[in-house]
Order: sequence, then C-alpha cells, then structure tokens
Amino acid sequence: MKTPSCQLSVSRRVALMKPSVTVAFGNRAKAMKQAGIDVLGFSLGEPDFDTPQPIKQAAIEAMLAGQTKYMPTLGDAETRGVIAAKLERDNGIAGLTSDHIAISAGGKHALYVSCHCLLDPPEPGEPAPEVLLPVPSWVSYAPIARMAGGTVIELPTTAADDFKISPDQLRAAITPRSRLLILNSPSNPCGTMYSPDELRALATVIEEATATTAPDLVVMSDEIYEKIVYGDMAHFSIGSIPAIADRVITINGLSKAYAMTGWRIGYTAMPGDFGREFIKALATMQGQMTTCITSFNYPAIRTALTECEADVLRMRDAFATRAEVMFARLGKINGLICPKPTGAFYAFPDISCFFGTTSAGGRPINSALDLCEALLEEARIAFVPGEDFGGCGDRCVRISFACSEAQINAGMDRFEDFLSKLR
Ligand code: PMP
Ligand code: GLU
Repeated sequence: MKTPSCQLSVSRRVALMKPSVTVAFGNRAKAMKQAGIDVLGFSLGEPDFDTPQPIKQAAIEAMLAGQTKYMPTLGDAETRGVIAAKLERDNGIAGLTSDHIAISAGGKHALYVSCHCLLDPPEPGEPAPEVLLPVPSWVSYAPIARMAGGTVIELPTTAADDFKISPDQLRAAITPRSRLLILNSPSNPCGTMYSPDELRALATVIEEATATTAPDLVVMSDEIYEKIVYGDMAHFSIGSIPAIADRVITINGLSKAYAMTGWRIGYTAMPGDFGREFIKALATMQGQMTTCITSFNYPAIRTALTECEADVLRMRDAFATRAEVMFARLGKINGLICPKPTGAFYAFPDISCFFGTTSAGGRPINSALDLCEALLEEARIAFVPGEDFGGCGDRCVRISFACSEAQINAGMDRFEDFLSKLR
C-alpha cells in the first residue's frame, strides 16, 4: 500500500489485516459520548462494573512496596501456581504445574502468541495449516490465525442450533492438515454455550481424528466468559476430558469475570510434556515481545483468583438479570430471531427481516452494517454489525448488555422507535 507522497509502505500482512470492528465501534461510541452526544453504547464487550476493591488494593500495595521492575517473562512461580490451582479446582484440568502456565498481556495477547507458537506460514508449494473455526465467532480469531500463517476453515452454524457445531460437522471438516480447532464457550458474539455432553461428543471426534487423519490437531479453548453463565448449563472445560487433555490449550483472562479490561491480564495453560514445551515457546516469544506484564499486577491476579468469588457472583447475577431484560425486549420485536443468551453478555439477533427498508433519515438498510450505521447516526445507539463475525453473522447485530438495566430499556426504546419508522 504505497502512499502518493512517498514510496514508503506498511507491511502487506498488516495492510491486509482487518481492523477489529468491536474495538472500532466501541471507540466510536466513546468518542461521540466524549463530544457530548447522547449515545447509548452496546458495542463493547466491557463490564460496566469497577474492578473489586481488594484487587486494586493488592496492586497498590505491590507498587508501594517497590514491585515495579521487570519480572520473569511468564510471571512469577507463585502466581502461575495460583492459576494452575484455579484451573484444577474450578475447571477439572489435571496435572498442571506452574510450568504449564503462561501469563500474557490480555486474553487477546495469549491467543496471539499461542497461534504463533503453533502455526507456521507454509513453505512455497506447501498447503497452509488449517484452523477450524466455528462461525459466527469473535472478530479477532481469524485475523490472528491468518497472521500466524494459518488458513481459516469456517464451520458455519445457525441461530436455530444456538450457533453450535455438531460432531458430524466437525468430523467432516477435519483433514490431515488440521492443526487447530478454536472453541469459545460461552460464545462471543452468540451468547450461547456448549453443554458438557456436547463438548464430550466433540472430544470423541477429536480423539478419533487424532488417532487417524489429523495427528497434529490441537484444541484452543477460549474460556474468558466461563464465570458469566446464567442458564441451566454449567460451564465445562474441554481440557478436563482425559482422552484429549494433553492436546487442549485453555485460554482465559481476568478482563470479563473481574471487570479488569484495562489491566490487560490473560493466561494460557496446557498440561503434559508437550504443554511444558509449548509454554517454553510462549516464553521465548513473549521474551522478545513484551518481557513481562505490568509487574505490580501479579499480586492482583492472586487476589482475584483466591478472594473475589463473591464479587464474581454479584456481577454474574446482574448480567443474568440484564440478559432476561434484553431477551424480553428483543422478543417483542416482530421478525427478529434471537437464541436466548445463556452466557457471556451478548445477544446476537438475526435482523435480516429489516433488509430492503429505508430509515427515517433516508439510509437504505441492506446489511447489518447499514443498520448499525443508521442506528448510530439516527437513534444514537451503538451495536456491532455482524459481518466480521463470519458465517451467518452478516444477518445479525451484536448487542452487548454489559450495561445497566436502565440503559438497556432506554436503548431498546430507541431501537423500537427507529424500527417503527422504517419505510
Ligand atoms: N476472547 C474473547 C472471546 C473475547 O471476547 C475477548 C474480548 N476482550 C478476548 C478473548 C480478549 O480479552 P482481553 O484481551 O481483554 O483479555
Ligand atoms: N472482546 C470485547 C468485544 O468483543 C472487547 C473488544 C475486543 O477485544 O474485541 O467487544
């Protein structure tokens, strides 16, 4: 991409990378608010709660005590040990020691380095490693996997199936080149989750495939919304299934469950001998990339994971109530289809019944992006258009309900009013 004024250019890899639409719409809504515009934000997946006080206190005390210098790249052994114990206690992932844990600058960074430590760009004439991705899925997975050299194989899902893949679908998608399967339950953007039995059935397919066609296949399970569940289903970690445990990378972080998005704390776990090697690879990469995370955050991680369960439950209960309110409001809108959210804090309705209309402000609505642009400009509500989530996402919008009930009701009033004026 050459600029007209000079011969300089940015790398092709980045020039071709899609910017994150969740971050873009989130920033846009925040900028409008700062400019004094009365916009209601439903775009960013960011809890509106403050970080619990004991977590802040732990960081403040560490900073005052002088823990302000470089630390070991993957984190100190004590904090990595606390994470290993948490994964064993809460998630049933056995055999983890601190050597199987890496701490990164957010879940996004953990995913980024994990993909780079697992995938290689193909040599000339070779096929690229395949990354199996159920879609719609969070907008960052595909760009991160591609940047690491993978080719993304989308596994389409539908609202009627709660946006979940079936074991047969997975079996049919696996090839000898399959290197990575990315799972995200509860799901961003879908707000749905897999049951323990559904994950066991997928694990059986993986076990069979790795014994035959796809010996190199690894599962990356992004469980960042594990604590934000409020349906009948319990969260379940696929890494707890012994038959495949040694090929499951579990990714998590503190952003969502502990309302710590700005702290940038994520972690990666993988048991077994390869797990230890894999985590060493992460250390090599992070050692050349970030050195370590902010050093006074380590005690805060320990406090969050050992002392703040009550705060997590309090926030979870609030999200559960908001999910009910949001689902009830969406249910009143004719033609819109939306599975009931059971986890995370997103509704992902199919709004394609409004395609072919024109807004009161004269904007033709022929796509999810058209609808979101018109909603932002005319109704002053910020949703995220579904196109970049892949698959049937182009018929959907993502509505984050990580905000107050009052805001949800006010936003849905504006949404209904906007829809009632479509021609
Ligand atoms: N995974 C999913 C599914 C997400 O929605 C997010 C959003 N922030 C992340 C990972 C990364 O979160 P963070 O980098 O804040 O830990
Ligand atoms: N994950 C959140 C979201 O989907 C934060 C923004 C981002 O990282 O994508 O809104």
